[in-house]
Amino acid sequence: MKLPKTFTYMHHTFNIEEGDTEVSEKTGNHYLGQVNWREDRIILYDEQTPQVMKSTLAHELYHIVLDRSGLDLDEGSLERLCDIMSYSLIEMALANPWFGEYFNDKG
Ligand SMILES: [Zn+2]
Repeated sequence: MKLPKTFTYMHHTFNIEEGDTEVSEKTGNHYLGQVNWREDRIILYDEQTPQVMKSTLAHELYHIVLDRSGLDLDEGSLERLCDIMSYSLIEMALANPWFGEYFNDKG
């Protein structure tokens, strides 16, 4: 499936793009995904498989969700929570064919 172009959450729209991400000082590798908060962009590193990119996009979406949640999480907890929620979202959607249609009021 093609990468979606935009993501809207709480009436705020972000553009979704593939491209170059910053390099992590910790690992020396490119971040797989980043949210550019000033420019309302989600950037996904373009050298990852489509399957990994799907997980990365879900992870970045949860960064946006949690940013608006008011929770005050340390970086480690935030990253872990984004991972757990993104994997669970994909797992729920894959294991339950009704998932997308039902929650989109199309079922
Ligand atoms: Zn993250």
